[in-house]
Amino acid sequence: MHNIPYSRQNINEDDIEAVARVLRSDFITQGPSIALFEETVKRFCGATNAVAVTNGTAALHVILQALGIGKGDMVWTSPISFVSSANCALYVGADVDFVDCDPVTANMDVAALEAKLQQSEKNGTLPKALIPVHFSGRACDMQAIAALAKHYGFAVIEDAAHALGGHYDNGEPIGNGAYSDAVIFSFHPVKSIATGEGGMVVSNNAELAQKVSMLRTFCITRDPNLIEGESDGPWYYQQLGLGFNYRMTDIQATLGASQMQRLEGFIARRRSLAARYEKILSALPLTLPPASDKSAWHLYVIGLKSSCKVSRREVFEFLRAANIGCNVHYIPIHTQPFYRKLGFKPGDFPNAEDFYSRAISIPLFPGLTEEEQDYVADKLGEVLG
Ligand SMILES: *Cc1c(COP(=O)(O)O)cnc(C)c1O
Repeated sequence: MHNIPYSRQNINEDDIEAVARVLRSDFITQGPSIALFEETVKRFCGATNAVAVTNGTAALHVILQALGIGKGDMVWTSPISFVSSANCALYVGADVDFVDCDPVTANMDVAALEAKLQQSEKNGTLPKALIPVHFSGRACDMQAIAALAKHYGFAVIEDAAHALGGHYDNGEPIGNGAYSDAVIFSFHPVKSIATGEGGMVVSNNAELAQKVSMLRTFCITRDPNLIEGESDGPWYYQQLGLGFNYRMTDIQATLGASQMQRLEGFIARRRSLAARYEKILSALPLTLPPASDKSAWHLYVIGLKSSCKVSRREVFEFLRAANIGCNVHYIPIHTQPFYRKLGFKPGDFPNAEDFYSRAISIPLFPGLTEEEQDYVADKLGEVLG
């Protein structure tokens, strides 16, 4: 069998033509494509504001900054995520802590969150912001999280890097801004749509979105309503804060807007492949992710049952040797050497560590064929005996 990646972007001739058109146009950055892409995403999600940035990590950085999170503040996130979900708190000088996950979905466990909030209230260490991660594209229980945020008074940023095109349990699109202060997306090639590198902050809070937009471009403005004092002339601009260059290029935004035309199809295909995996893997000694017609199915993470006679490492190496590009999502963030130096240690979040010890992500992306899927199932059957 040829090499099967665990994920792969889906680029067609429309995408290529759109990018070629922008390359022949007047603007390859700071042109009209950014606003078009932002409009397309916010309309799809049903939110009122969207700001495109260089990548998902930058999106997390600027939204925390825009919320005024900084030194002395505490941010909580999920240990089963990419490191950016936690690193962003440290970028703004805040401290980070984690809430253990649900053993089955690997999403933040709301009961564990509530228990930790009660304890922190007593100690006077409540978080300023919470970053729940919609792991593998499956929504966290946002209604419960939003109720806790209201009660304890913290901001919520949904890390929806896996979840563009997915739905909450109630059927509303992920990113509609109804349950949080802001939602971030990533457009890395393995995510729902690809722009090469890219990210976005989506929010129903116009003032917050305006702050993110300023932070994206150095906090420099020419807006006569925002500048202080008199203008020196038509060339005049002012820097009003310490911002960054987190602009997406028009080349990327054009690719993103073109990809958005096919997002629904991508997600439908991912959902149908996930349902098919469930059928063809059901006889194996594996824990499969719970069925869902709401998840964006960014990842299909199988777990080896304790009854399994082979180790995770043996299964992983066997699949790789069979040209199956499996992966592991994720090494719990708190066990990384950098985070151990901050005082975290193995044992701190046992559900996350147990999930990690069994997990293997098998190939899932819109272009995966049923023949390739059958091959993955056959090889898993072979190694699991
Ligand atoms: C991909 C990812 C990010 C970061 O996005 P980039 O665009 O790669 O910077 C953040 N959080 C999660 C959960 C991710 O998977």
